[in-house]
Amino acid sequence: MSLSGAYDDDNIFARIIRGDMPSVKVWDNNDVLAFMDVFPQAPGHVLVIHKRARARNLLDIDAGDLAALMSGVQHVARAMEKALQPDGLRVTQFNGAPAGQTVFHLHVHIVPVVEGQPHRGHASGGMADMDELKAIAARIAAAA
Ligand code: 5GP
Repeated sequence: MSLSGAYDDDNIFARIIRGDMPSVKVWDNNDVLAFMDVFPQAPGHVLVIHKRARARNLLDIDAGDLAALMSGVQHVARAMEKALQPDGLRVTQFNGAPAGQTVFHLHVHIVPVVEGQPHRGHASGGMADMDELKAIAARIAAAA
């Protein structure tokens, strides 16, 4: 899907928001949900989304909703720093399939980086072990 087009109410993240599809939740507030990426680029990879904005990408979202989303990203990034004590944090976001986007509900990736530890490329990782995912989510959640 390119940059323009209609929002699909059945995309994976819309289904997670509705509760039609399971996810490992890290944190939420009235506007924003953070949950674990099941194909993590590194242990602790979290995705942050707006719960109501029907935005496929950065170009679609209302500025107020974007502010709420980015405030949630900062909140989770701070919790991740406290909980996991990484050396760095990569915050990324892709717009349109040619840019690497695979799920068309606007989302922000937060990936902890440990110096010297290789990480997988975007959309190239294997599926995480669910118990490990839940354990790391609980550590971040406790600091959020
Ligand atoms: P994008 O490629 O659109 O920037 O990111 C989509 C992300 O969603 C990828 O990092 C991918 O691993 C993740 N993903 C794909 N399917 C699922 C799923 O069913 N559950 C969760 N939690 N993450 C998913």
